[in-house]
Amino acid sequence: MGNKTAKVRLLRHTPNPEELVAMSARLCYSPSSIEEISEGVSRKDQAGFINKIMDMGHLTVLEHASFTFGIEGVSRSLLAQITRHRIASFSVQSQRYVGETKSQNQGDTFGYVVPKKVKLLGEDAVEDFCNQMSQMQKWYDQWVERFGGDRSGYEDARFVLPNAAETKIIVTMNARELIHFFNLRCCDRAQWEIRAVADEMLSQVKQVAPTIFEKAGPGCVGGPCPEGNLSCGKAKEVKERYLKNG
Ligand SMILES: Cc1cc2nc3c(=O)[nH]c(=O)nc-3n(C[C@H](O)[C@H](O)[C@H](O)COP(=O)(O)OP(=O)(O)OC[C@H]3O[C@@H](n4cnc5c(N)ncnc54)[C@H](O)[C@@H]3O)c2cc1C
Repeated sequence: MGNKTAKVRLLRHTPNPEELVAMSARLCYSPSSIEEISEGVSRKDQAGFINKIMDMGHLTVLEHASFTFGIEGVSRSLLAQITRHRIASFSVQSQRYVGETKSQNQGDTFGYVVPKKVKLLGEDAVEDFCNQMSQMQKWYDQWVERFGGDRSGYEDARFVLPNAAETKIIVTMNARELIHFFNLRCCDRAQWEIRAVADEMLSQVKQVAPTIFEKAGPGCVGGPCPEGNLSCGKAKEVKERYLKNG
């Protein structure tokens, strides 16, 4: 299996997410019946309703639209970070039920992510890193064997696997949580792996809900940088980059 790269795919989303959010916004401020609302809001009026309600900070209407992503080729280190987001639903490939033995891997080692900094150091560094992963694979295989050689050993043998080990995740977030997630994780202060995944998620949701996510991105896109002394100092160019990619 070896060296992996991140793959992010928007698997499913609420059908016509912007129409539904606009309908919810309209319901709040008009005398219309649910039946009238259920007929929908014409495409030309949707952006107006959405922009108005978002400018007012009435963000609960965004919670009706949800988005489900398949993410693979990412590390357990990313997993620890993304699962801190509590207003989200996760399914994660189990290291208890899915073994990382050589025979199951159909390769030399379990899947893993080589950190950016290691790659920047050059081929020798990448080779050293891969050799270290191979060593961990040996330790893992030895423990599975000592625990009886079957799947009952996976849950404890995995203790010798690294943060670099690949995982696969299905995650669902509603539009409000996604905007919050992008705020934190598209920021230059976020760790490179989750930032790359967040950027990819943002680019994919923009295709299906361009108005909702028009101003989504790190904190500085919607106002002054919230990071204080820890700011990257590049708020202007970061903001331009995210607004341009809309
Ligand atoms: C750059 C960066 C560095 C970080 N470094 C660390 C670190 O060193 N150590 C560490 O432990 N974590 C760290 N984190 C993780 C961070 O502390 C949060 O756990 C994570 O970003 C999720 O944020 P959240 O709680 O706002 O989001 P979510 O869990 O997605 O929640 C969304 C929002 O819902 C509301 N909410 C959710 N649950 C509750 C609740 N129980 N009570 C009240 N309101 C709630 C809050 O308004 C919250 O902002 C870091 C995150 C970033 C982006």
